[in-house]
Amino acid sequence: MSSMIQARPRAVSTSPAERRTKLADLRFGTAFTEHMVSMRWSVRDGWHDGELVPYGNVTLPPTAVGLHYGQIVFEGLKAFRLEDGRVASFRAAQHARRFAASARRLMMPEMPEELFVAAIRDLVRQDQDWLGDDPGISLYLRPILFATEETLALRPATEYRFLLTAFITEGYFGRSLEPVTVWLCEDYVRAAPGGTGAAKCAGNYAAGLIAQEQAAANGCDQVVWLDAATRTLVEEMGGMNLWFVVRDGDSHRLLTPPLTGSILPGVTRDALLTVAPRLGLPVTEAPVSVEQWRTGCLSGEITEVFACGTAARVSPVAEVRGADGSWSCGTGDRPVTARLSRHLFGIQRGVIPDEDGWLDVIS
Ligand SMILES: *Cc1c(COP(=O)(O)O)cnc(C)c1O
Repeated sequence: MSSMIQARPRAVSTSPAERRTKLADLRFGTAFTEHMVSMRWSVRDGWHDGELVPYGNVTLPPTAVGLHYGQIVFEGLKAFRLEDGRVASFRAAQHARRFAASARRLMMPEMPEELFVAAIRDLVRQDQDWLGDDPGISLYLRPILFATEETLALRPATEYRFLLTAFITEGYFGRSLEPVTVWLCEDYVRAAPGGTGAAKCAGNYAAGLIAQEQAAANGCDQVVWLDAATRTLVEEMGGMNLWFVVRDGDSHRLLTPPLTGSILPGVTRDALLTVAPRLGLPVTEAPVSVEQWRTGCLSGEITEVFACGTAARVSPVAEVRGADGSWSCGTGDRPVTARLSRHLFGIQRGVIPDEDGWLDVIS
């Protein structure tokens, strides 16, 4: 399939000085690499015009369907420099499947898994020099698919564009495992039953910005979304899935809300579901109420709370604030969160055996 993507001869390189400037300021989502993959889809020709080109602006008709009616889906995944010097992407096939599922929900074409993975390989191979031997740095890959057809008719578009760009990152919250303070949002909802909550579509993020502003106004770093119907059940945190560490005699177990259709099925969530039991941490997927969260933290039954996602990996939650008051989570010592974070990062860097074939070694 890789042959569907033509490499353009005009490769761009960045001077060592420019490279140092970029690496000195790695605010999330700003330090883009030199290239991108572009591809088109139309009813008539299917997937075509795949090419690896210099990163640059694209042109669109002012009446492109995506701009007006929001047929836009995206993904977020990472590539890492392994300890042995090779470079690999993490769970690209799983991200390909979710990309296709998101597209299906928005009546958009499903990109074949092999094509998605081939695009990732081509871009990572081209721009891998950014991954030096600093293990704190990874390459964040952002595939996006949007409707380009020039019409204002309200129906699924017949033409689409795929773009894959990348940026260098130290993680969403920088390098630290700094705990975050979260806001329980009761005024707005991210997703409702039957809606688009399980799809990674641009509109979900636009709809969430106002709640993020409310969180910030209340001194919080992130929003916690509650269920649309009752506003009593915990769904997820901003763009990350939530986990609770529960004391179980002398050991611990994990609790995370089930995928009911309004929660985004995180690939990191899925990875933790797989590895946690192997570390002696059984997992229950069950609804968690705000009340259960509060009383669990106050009684000491819940010892740690954390969120997980590709961008920030594992982020501890230190404090919860809501309209009815606040409480803290755990004591500051977070051994289970730290262990899971280390384990996941170990797999991503090729230090811990990749039992599930999650790494796609690219070069
Ligand atoms: C992307 C995303 C996540 C995390 O998914 P990962 O695959 O683990 O990165 C969680 N919630 C929302 C709303 C998201 O968009």
